[in-house]
Amino acid sequence: MSEYKTIEQKRKFYDSGDWKRIREEVKRRDNHECQECKRQGRVTIDTNEYSESAKRKKIQLVVHHIKELEHHPDLALDIDNLETVCVDCHNKEHGRSFERKQNKWEHDERW
Ligand SMILES: [Zn+2]
Ligand SMILES: [Zn+2]
Repeated sequence: MSEYKTIEQKRKFYDSGDWKRIREEVKRRDNHECQECKRQGRVTIDTNEYSESAKRKKIQLVVHHIKELEHHPDLALDIDNLETVCVDCHNKEHGRSFERKQNKWEHDERW
């Protein structure tokens, strides 16, 4: 099984054709919308052509590993473990999961 613990290993993964393919597939599945914003009733989409009329915020989308790559290398390319989020939510997501882990480190294996 592959490991993604070092920056080098991760970079190699994110550079791989497999990742690029699945990333596009996930964005398509999620309609190029941030799933986290959507849960909160906002619509944020990825668009290269910003239009006032669309009233949508131009923002960069990232495909996020719900269960972290580093700890779940077996789920690296599992589409059910991936979701499209905007950069804002992504930062929050990682901030939050960091806190969660700090508080509840002992429950980590549940995931
Ligand atoms: Zn968002
Ligand atoms: Zn992420």
